[in-house]
Parts: sequence; structure tokens; C-alpha cells
Amino acid sequence: MAKKNKQVLEHYPMIVGGLEVRHGLDDLIAPATGEVFATVAVGTLEDVNAAVAAAVAAQKTWGALTPGERGMALLRWADLLEQHAERLANLESINAGKPIKLAKYGDVPVAIDNLRYFASVVRRVEGVASGSYVGGMTSLIRREPIGVVAAITPWNYPILMAAWKLGPALAAGNAIIIKPAPNTPITTIELARLALQAGLPAGLINVVTGGAEVGEAMIRHPDVRMVSFTGSTRTGRRVGELAGNGAKRVTLELGGKAPMLVFADADLEAAVQGAVAGAFVNAGQDCTAATRIYVEKSVYAKFLKRFKEVSSTIRTSSKLESESTDMGPLSSAAQLEKVHGYVQSAKKQKIKIELGGELPKGKGFFYPPTILSNAPQHSDVVQEEIFGPVVVVNSFSSEAEAVQLANDIAYGLASSVWTKDVQRSMRVSAALEFGTVWVNDHLPLVSEMPHGGFKGSGVGKDLSHYALEEYSIPKHVMFDTTGDQRKGWHFTIFGDQ
Ligand code: NAD
Repeated sequence: MAKKNKQVLEHYPMIVGGLEVRHGLDDLIAPATGEVFATVAVGTLEDVNAAVAAAVAAQKTWGALTPGERGMALLRWADLLEQHAERLANLESINAGKPIKLAKYGDVPVAIDNLRYFASVVRRVEGVASGSYVGGMTSLIRREPIGVVAAITPWNYPILMAAWKLGPALAAGNAIIIKPAPNTPITTIELARLALQAGLPAGLINVVTGGAEVGEAMIRHPDVRMVSFTGSTRTGRRVGELAGNGAKRVTLELGGKAPMLVFADADLEAAVQGAVAGAFVNAGQDCTAATRIYVEKSVYAKFLKRFKEVSSTIRTSSKLESESTDMGPLSSAAQLEKVHGYVQSAKKQKIKIELGGELPKGKGFFYPPTILSNAPQHSDVVQEEIFGPVVVVNSFSSEAEAVQLANDIAYGLASSVWTKDVQRSMRVSAALEFGTVWVNDHLPLVSEMPHGGFKGSGVGKDLSHYALEEYSIPKHVMFDTTGDQRKGWHFTIFGDQ
């Protein structure tokens, strides 16, 4: 892409109270070329205040609708998104540096499916049926919206992470102010624009752009009642601290360092194919990516040889629009530097580099599929989230050792077990301290099932009806059923006996 004159670049606005707010100017860089391709507005404290005020107003009406009415409105929005799916996929591909295959068949349709799921499943929500737990009183539970939710998302799956928050938050009757990552705001802005076109009320979805300063202002705002964050564990701790100080509800979907355990009885070719997709999807910038592959000693050499062979056929290209491209660049120059830094550090520690590990020449933030072997369990490449196409292949001797090595990490988001032994798969999946365990696969997520971390990978769940529970709050309503002032529960305590 030739560097364009900034005068003709598209400028993406914030969406506040249904209006496009254009002040501030930040460059958006196409990761495949390293060149500026668009610009975006930059939010201020005043924008955060205006967005929260608009959300407070919109939520009052929206939250009072029935689940069916909210669901229908969300379904109309999802239909409109589907009409724009190809355009959204192209925008996501350029802005986040994704091969079109991933955006077109993965991120965009999965985001739409997610919105449809929440639009529908919210109609199934009910309070617990009434019951009497003390004489003369009947209790019931209502699930209430929380109010205004502040959502903060990362750059690796911009549209998907936005949908994961918008779907359950809106279905449950809340209004949102959402801040995408500074470098990948476009599809979140487009989601909000299309929501207005689909008839969702102004102020229901507000998009404020910017970085940490804007994010912190959102969390601190007294009218924000819940913070829903997806990003790194480091930032998540800070977000949790600020939310805790304000006694706000918080969900934190944080980093991961997923192990993949390959037992000798597994279908080795399936495991290799699973490892290639698991490690290199989205250029490894995936919180569930298979980053630590532990293979049983007797099949270690065979697995590694074949894994290298298949990994070296991955087609990495700047032609993101071509369906022949399997892997694109990393999302930013900073991420490229970080990823290469880990590999250089591994080299210094004499960890063997089986494949890749060299910085390519030319434009864009590309990094090759990189395989390291036999890295010490306590080395940084085994323990820390690299977030690039870099995977470690180590070995184990027994089931107990495999589980111990897998769990020996601060993270707990996702993991997989590869074996044909059903009993073993049951034992190992129970012993793994991760929010998701796949058996004989690695990566698939569905709208109906929860996603979220154990340990340092976070608090709370995205996806599924568990997410709806995060975004609503149970209220106990208790009725006196006696209609008699002298028989009620209060009389037992304070009345004359
Ligand atoms: P990041 O933590 O740097 O940034 C995430 C978001 O937080 C961005 O919008 C950023 O602007 C904002 N932010 C930064 N500092 C902030 C602060 N002090 N207060 C409020 N907001 C602040 O993460 P990233 O580098 O954009 O994303 C990659 C990370 O996201 C990885 O660790 C990855 O594992 C994680 N992730 C997790 C999941 C999951 O479901 N668990 C999904 C996708 C990504």
C-alpha cells in the first residue's frame, strides 16, 4: 500500500450519544505494510463524561424493555452486520493485519453469531421460582441490569472481543461505553455506527478511543457500575485495582500460556495439525494459543520432525486479501520487537531454535513461525506470554509429570490433551487448572459455552449464559403473605409475645 496523503485518509470518529465525534488525531498503521492507512479521533476526559451521561440516559429506557424486545432489536442489528460482513472482514484484516480467511470465516461471523446467541438466550433468563423460607413470607429473585458497563478490549481480536462484551451487556439491559485498543478501533466504531442504523437507541453503545488514560477515566467514573476488561494480565491487575477501589463489578479476561499435552497413544498426525493451527493462528496472538507443547518422550522426536515440516509450509504473506495467505504480520512494531526479544533471549540461553527465529527483511511487522525445543521449564519462553508465532516443544515421561508441567504456570486460560485413552482424558482434564480443556483439539470456542481463566488468567466468564449472569445482578424481593400486622416476621422480633 502506497503511503497516502493524510488529507485523503479516512478519519474514524468516536461515537458518543449517537453522534460522531471527530476531534483528536492518531495514525492507524496497517501491520502488513507498516504504513499509515487511516486516522482516528482521540478521546478526552470530557468525552468519557459525555459518553457515560449518554449511556445513563439510554439505559433507563433500554433496561425497562422486555428481554424479547431487547432481543429483537439486537437481532435486527446482527442482520445488518451480516449484510456488511464482507466490508467488516476487510477492515479487520487491514487494521489488525489478519489474513482475510481468518476475518471472513472466523472473527466476523463468530462475532455476529455471538450477538444472536445473547439476543435469544436472554429470553430464557428467569429468576428462581418463588419460595417460602420463613413463615408468612414469600421470596422471589429478579435479575436486574447493572447499569452502565465500561468495556475495554485488546487488539488481537477487535470485533470479536467487542461482540463478546456488547452481546451479554446489552441483552441483560445495560448500556455500554467501550474503548477499543488504540491501534485497532475501526470495527468497534463500525459496530456502533451500524447499531444506530439498525435502530438501537443513541447512547446505548458509546465508543471512546484512546489508551490507558481514557481507560482509567472510564473505570473511575462514578456512574460506571461494572468494568469488563480483556487484555494483558499486567493491565488487568491495574484495572482490577481501580475497579476494586470503586467497589465495582469487574470481569477480567487476561493472558494465557496454553499447554498442549500429546500422549504417545494420540493420533500423532492430528496432533501435529492441531499444533500448527493452535500455535500459529492469528500469528500466535491468541490468548488460548498452544504455546507450550509437551510430548511424551517415546514420540517426541517423531512429533517434532513432523511439526517442523508442516509449520514450514505455512504461507506468510502481506497479501492479506488472498485466501492463500495463512499467516499475516504481528499487529504492531512494538509487538514484533517484543516477540523477537524473547527469541533472542532464548538463543542466549542456548535454547535450540528448530525453525524460524530470524527477523525477515522488508516492510510490515512479519515474524516467521518459530519453534523452540527442550527449553527449561522455568525459562521465560516457557513461563511468559510471548503473544507471537513462537512455540516451545518439550517432553514428559509420565502422566503425572505432564499434568505437573502443564499446571506449573501463573496462567490458567486454556489447555488441550491429545490421547485415545478415554479414562486418561477424563483424569487429565479434571487435573488441569485451566478454564477450558480440549480433548483431541485446540482452539474452538462456541457462543454456548463459557470462556474465562483460572489463576492469573482472570476473573469471570465471557460467552454462554454464565456471561449473562456477570452482566446482571440478582435482586431478592420478599413479600409478606399474611396481610396481618400482628403476624408478620417483624412482629415476632419486636411485638409483645
Ligand atoms: P493490554 O493490556 O496492553 O491492553 C488492553 C486494553 O487495555 C487496551 O484497550 C488498552 O488501551 C487498555 N489499557 C491499557 N492500560 C490501561 C489502564 N491502565 N487502564 C485501563 N485500560 C488500559 O493488552 P493488549 O496488548 O492490547 O492485548 C493482548 C493481551 O490480551 C494478551 O495478554 C492476551 O492474552 C489478552 N487477551 C485475553 C483474552 C481472553 O479471553 N482471556 C482474549 C484476547 C486477548
